[in-house]
Amino acid sequence: MPDEKIVKNRFGNNVKTDIPVDAPRARQPGHKLRTSNDIVDRSELGTDSTQTGKVHVLQDQKIELIKVEDQTGLVRMDAEQPGKIPNQFTGPSYRNHGERFRFDGHKMLHHLDRVMAWQNGEIFAPIHIDMGLTKFCNTACIYCYAVVQNMTKGKMIEREPLLRYIEDCGRLGVRSLGFIGDGEPTLNPALYDATVLAGKLGIDTSMATNGLLIDMDRADDLLANMTWIRFNLSAGTPEGFQRVHQSKGKNFDLLVEKIRSLVKLKKERGYQCTLGLQMVLIPECYDQVLAEAELGAELGVDYFVIKHCSDSEYKEIGIDYKDYATIEDVLKQAEAMSTEDYVVQAKWNKIKASEETDLYSKGYRKYDVCMGTPFLLQISGNGKIYPCGPFFNKERFYIGDLHKDSFYDIVNSEKYWAVHKDISESVDVHKDCAIGCRQDYVNKFLWDIKNPPEHINFI
Ligand code: SF4
Repeated sequence: MPDEKIVKNRFGNNVKTDIPVDAPRARQPGHKLRTSNDIVDRSELGTDSTQTGKVHVLQDQKIELIKVEDQTGLVRMDAEQPGKIPNQFTGPSYRNHGERFRFDGHKMLHHLDRVMAWQNGEIFAPIHIDMGLTKFCNTACIYCYAVVQNMTKGKMIEREPLLRYIEDCGRLGVRSLGFIGDGEPTLNPALYDATVLAGKLGIDTSMATNGLLIDMDRADDLLANMTWIRFNLSAGTPEGFQRVHQSKGKNFDLLVEKIRSLVKLKKERGYQCTLGLQMVLIPECYDQVLAEAELGAELGVDYFVIKHCSDSEYKEIGIDYKDYATIEDVLKQAEAMSTEDYVVQAKWNKIKASEETDLYSKGYRKYDVCMGTPFLLQISGNGKIYPCGPFFNKERFYIGDLHKDSFYDIVNSEKYWAVHKDISESVDVHKDCAIGCRQDYVNKFLWDIKNPPEHINFI
């Protein structure tokens, strides 16, 4: 029986978890989440939040206050829309803008060779691998998914196995690596050499980082070789930074100056590396959205993206996805700050998913089977390979260890493919999986291929 526990967290927001009474608890769960430190030990297995603060009003939006007895309600009315333009063959009236980044979807259509190999039952290399370089961090963000993946202080992939793995990725034809995982990548000193090596081998790399410890003496190596660097920043003020990232307010200023220096270096030396900010949306940072959108514009980064918070299958982070409806107008106001050179975008497909289907609210997906893991693999910061991040430490799905085995041999092994098969055959994606996992969009695409409608030639 799920132990549905609603508590008020230390910020005054309600949080609801679904941890079964008898689930084994991790003894050293890591830093404090927004809920509590009650975290399930996966290696042993099996409300309403309210937006606080001022009322935000969109440009040109009208609000009407309605008083009933001693209470006051607020009604928002849309800004006036321009009248419709009839088709008078007078030339173009409107042009769709191409999407500069695809934050809210997938790019599988650009890798149809791998899709064909999959359909033909061949062995093929992942298109992309998300990989942690450590299993620990120097900040303690209250939404951190890595806590539920059991962070382990001091554990990280060592330099030689890491470089050997990158060589193997080159031999296999892996197209991109994201140093994104269960720990902060800049805490691994081999990050810089790994990036340079990947660049030499023609593998695209990227990194998601809190940015505080970037070695500015090696900034050129990162900017010259990485396709993009994303700063995990869910605040636009030192006070918000302290609250959400549980780090000192002065570190906010340090980070801002580092980003400013990287933007300057990029422009001066003509590097192509995209620099962006990402906010993980939780009620504790709702009041930071507009401040961060303004900060991104002032810093001159390429984008500011706002994403949903992925919660675990036990909702250990306590996200109420319906609550996102209360912040939609603020997100739209932030998006309106986009310019030619600066994209501000909310991941609406996931932020609004609770309105569209039972996805997130009940965990249901738009497909029944997970087939995406061979295309998009995830590796833990300690060098252990599992098909996906939410299944780190679930030993049934353990594939191998980069300290012991060659990644080239692993991908060509029977065990590797047996684990992916086990995932697709035994996992119930509607209840066994993290909410909004990384492979979600890819899974939907593959499900559509495997489940075509009738009359497919009538396109
Ligand atoms: S659907 Fe489930 S098994 Fe597949 S990648 Fe997502 S969390 Fe992992």
